[in-house]
Amino acid sequence: MTAIPRQKPVFRFAPSPNGPLHLGHALSAFLNRDMAASAGARFLLRIEDIDLTRCTPEFEAGIYADLEWLAIDWERPVRRQSEHFAEYQSALDRLVDLGLAYPAFMTRGEIKTRVAAAEANGTPWPRDPDGSPLYPPDDRQRADFDRRQLLASGVKHAWRLDMSKALEAVGEALFWEETGYGDRGTIAANPGAWGDVVLSRSDAPSSYHVSVVLDDALQGITHVVRGLDLFHSTSVHRLLQTLLGLPAPVYHHHRLITDEDGRKLSKSRSDTGLCELRDRGLSPADIRHLVGL
Ligand code: GLU
Repeated sequence: MTAIPRQKPVFRFAPSPNGPLHLGHALSAFLNRDMAASAGARFLLRIEDIDLTRCTPEFEAGIYADLEWLAIDWERPVRRQSEHFAEYQSALDRLVDLGLAYPAFMTRGEIKTRVAAAEANGTPWPRDPDGSPLYPPDDRQRADFDRRQLLASGVKHAWRLDMSKALEAVGEALFWEETGYGDRGTIAANPGAWGDVVLSRSDAPSSYHVSVVLDDALQGITHVVRGLDLFHSTSVHRLLQTLLGLPAPVYHHHRLITDEDGRKLSKSRSDTGLCELRDRGLSPADIRHLVGL
């Protein structure tokens, strides 16, 4: 009998080049690399640069330099999301064709005003797991004629998922396998908590949620290792994977490195930036130690 060759597991580290890497990224990169090595897996680096205004070639070069300094090696070529907008667009087109997405015309300012007006009457506006207000229902409820006219007039718009219709289309409870730091085992997804999530923005032809699920599938990612701040986003990812017929990786959400006030590190703080720490004479071993490995 011929043995069927077993596919190697595939891990990925997927930073966005919108600022310098900090200790939190170092933890994520080390964990990905270490877990991949102990599983005999492939390890990929993906550059998540769909935000064309905030991502720069300098920050991207910084990612390569920092990882090389940490002696973390990855497979080439690197997938850069900005080179794959057409693929994300076809995923969006499928959701539009299924009648599960609608054009969303409200600006950030309009959403804020709408929410503030509702809350002034004493009714708290529903919020997503990150604390942002859910997208108001106005555009979802818009008449087709009105929608077509607005689109034809060239008004800037995003595309959003019609969450209720999407949940109805799936018609069953969704789960994911979690091996990470908080809750473990089979986790029940709750995509509804996010409301009508954005699928593409007026200033970026995709969204984090669409591009991440598509790339994880296209690159055959079997294990997603990333920070706990993305734990709840996994609910949206499981929904999109199901709607688009994509496989689900195993998820491992790791602890976050926080500042002295317990807040998640931000890319604007230079004192935890890897480049800054390297210039101050710290070694890669010191960085491992600092992130608790
Ligand atoms: N690009 C995301 C970030 O830099 C990570 C996405 C992911 O690992 O799923 O926060």
